[in-house]
Amino acid sequence: MSRRILTALPVVALAAVSFGQLGRPANAIDMIIAETRDHAQAYSILSEIVTKFGPRSTASDALLDAQHWAVRKFMDFGVDNAWLEEYAEAPVRFQRGKANWGGFAAPYRYQMAFSTPAYTVGTNGAVAGPPVKNPTSLEEAKKMAKELKGAWVLMPTKVGMGSANLTRPTETDKFVDSCGIAGRIFSSNSDKYVWTHGSWTAYKKETRPKTPLVVINKSDYGLVEYNMAKGRKPVLEFNVDNRLEDKPTKLYNVVAEIKGSVNPFEYVIVSGHFDSWDGPGSQGAMDNGTGSSMVLELARVFAKLKLRPMRTIRFVLWSGEEQGLLGSQGYVKKHKDEMDKVQAVFVEDHGQNPYQGVVVQTDMKPFFEPTIAKLAGAYPEFKFELKTADRLPGGGSDHGSFIAQGVPGFQLQKADGPVSYTEIWHTQNDRISYVQPRCIAQNATYVGSLAYALADMQQRLPKALPGSRRRAGSGQ
Ligand SMILES: [Zn+2]
Repeated sequence: MSRRILTALPVVALAAVSFGQLGRPANAIDMIIAETRDHAQAYSILSEIVTKFGPRSTASDALLDAQHWAVRKFMDFGVDNAWLEEYAEAPVRFQRGKANWGGFAAPYRYQMAFSTPAYTVGTNGAVAGPPVKNPTSLEEAKKMAKELKGAWVLMPTKVGMGSANLTRPTETDKFVDSCGIAGRIFSSNSDKYVWTHGSWTAYKKETRPKTPLVVINKSDYGLVEYNMAKGRKPVLEFNVDNRLEDKPTKLYNVVAEIKGSVNPFEYVIVSGHFDSWDGPGSQGAMDNGTGSSMVLELARVFAKLKLRPMRTIRFVLWSGEEQGLLGSQGYVKKHKDEMDKVQAVFVEDHGQNPYQGVVVQTDMKPFFEPTIAKLAGAYPEFKFELKTADRLPGGGSDHGSFIAQGVPGFQLQKADGPVSYTEIWHTQNDRISYVQPRCIAQNATYVGSLAYALADMQQRLPKALPGSRRRAGSGQ
């Protein structure tokens, strides 16, 4: 017996050593650069996501289908494990159907670009009615009761990136509703964009709007007012195919991992949010198909190259980001005992423009320098700088949830490029046609290299100092 143990021991020890070395080649960073840049698949993964699922609002079938697909994709790539991880429940289920159309039915037919806030009701078939200005007082509303029946009520609020706010209906609003209006029409604050924000967290069941809310372009809103002023008796008609059900819906993050070869219970998280807004025409491609496809791409690359750094790499696709970082906050809560074992968290939620730098806490600089030096020249057309600050910048996306716990969280900075935040994000324009394959390959190269290096170094990064801003409310 003792002889068997004696012979067995060196074999086990040898196996562990060679296993570690196998997954930790000296030229790992060069291998990551070559695979992510020269054999990049981030763009084709993105294409698959937007073609198969389109936009993916939280608590919708599209997101749930995409999440199941992602679990299979991670496993097909060859990670050790992948799963759906529940973190909360939404009280509703929301599907934005495909049959959305509307505009003027009279004095002429004219199709408008429009949207409706997420988590609001549809028209249940096409509904035509005259536009009527929203009464400014209860007395006025009472006088207009007949006129309001069946009318599309023109609201004075200009809607921007935030949602059309009807969370605290006034007595006048309630009376207007009781008149049987067709719905409410809001003007976008812009001539180019219609917005789709909404939230079940803002719309409580008791105060949730019971009639459809439609957001049209500023100039179209002006055209409605013009036709009314000219006495042309305009008629508006909208078919809003929203389906809002009072059906509790479980919310998940998708998690996959490649176990660490030395410290499997320490982690580096590579992540991005998988949910998107879902306005008509949007594919959720930029925000955040680009970040999600980078996460999947890096799982593919690490598995293909058989990289197994010291620490476990967790690949996470958050959800509920757009409703206020719900998925990452749920993860932080669920994994609270692990927080001091997380070496670093990377989030990509910046779209397709090229990276120009990373901001790290001053005392973290030495941990980044060698990798940044290796990356120099990988993309000669893009400049990249390592910058320092007293606090890690935490605003705008899921890394903020970790920084608030003292866990180093990073989102690399983007250069100004052809794609502007205000023109694409959270609008009907969020489409794959704006995405450059080279830029999202660069995302994968930089995040993959930094994540590998931090997962494979002996030292632990200093804690993130408190005071970093974590943006509340809706995400980036
Ligand atoms: Zn985003």
